[in-house]
Amino acid sequence: MESYASSSSSDSTSTGEMEVDKLACNAHTICDSELIPLGTGLYPVISIINHSCYPNSVLVFEGRMATIRAIQQIPKGSEVLISYIETAGSTMTRQKALKEQYFFTCSCPRCIKLGQDDDIKESAVLEGYRCKNHTCDGFLLRDTEIKGFRCHQCGLVRGMEEILKIAGEEKDMSEKASVALSSGYNNEALDMYLKVEKLQMKLYHSSSIKLMRTRETLLRMLMEMQDWKKALTYCRLTIPVYESK
Ligand SMILES: [Zn+2]
Ligand SMILES: [Zn+2]
Repeated sequence: MESYASSSSSDSTSTGEMEVDKLACNAHTICDSELIPLGTGLYPVISIINHSCYPNSVLVFEGRMATIRAIQQIPKGSEVLISYIETAGSTMTRQKALKEQYFFTCSCPRCIKLGQDDDIKESAVLEGYRCKNHTCDGFLLRDTEIKGFRCHQCGLVRGMEEILKIAGEEKDMSEKASVALSSGYNNEALDMYLKVEKLQMKLYHSSSIKLMRTRETLLRMLMEMQDWKKALTYCRLTIPVYESK
């Protein structure tokens, strides 16, 4: 079950390892309608569907029943493709995930752009820092001469020291928020995740995946608290990142 694979398979020698690898590569995580993982299932027919980081179909679950739904027009005779991994990630991140979990190197239409201008821009937007000028939507690229990052659009420089300071605060607050949430201190956790969001807005590009994940967490918490108005606001904030993919 792999597509566009330029190298494949694991190098397992013992049968035991091989069986584990086979299971890991062919099992699907069953999720509910909010994409919360419920368990793992083996679906022999679905396991033969190949991967693309630019899929034309998605795998969805209704209870234990797995369904493949087309997400675009699929011309007659074209291959049905799903993504085995989260598609909202840079090419490097996706390739790393595919290599580690499915043991192949993807060469789909998105992956073959690795290192090209479009791909560099996409990575910098999804996983990079924001411009110091808050009215600028430019993305930042590492500048080795100045020990920092330079905005691709306006040329403004952000120093490494400032970035590391905010990143440290963000990491501490994220850890505290996660502990508060898993301990059931929902109100405290909500306050902390709002602080994480603020720090991430200072640090990352507006279409950053980290920021989107924080907003998804806030969305889930607000829904549980039945604060539907705020939940809707966060729902709307997460959509543009998916739409750009
Ligand atoms: Zn790919
Ligand atoms: Zn800028």
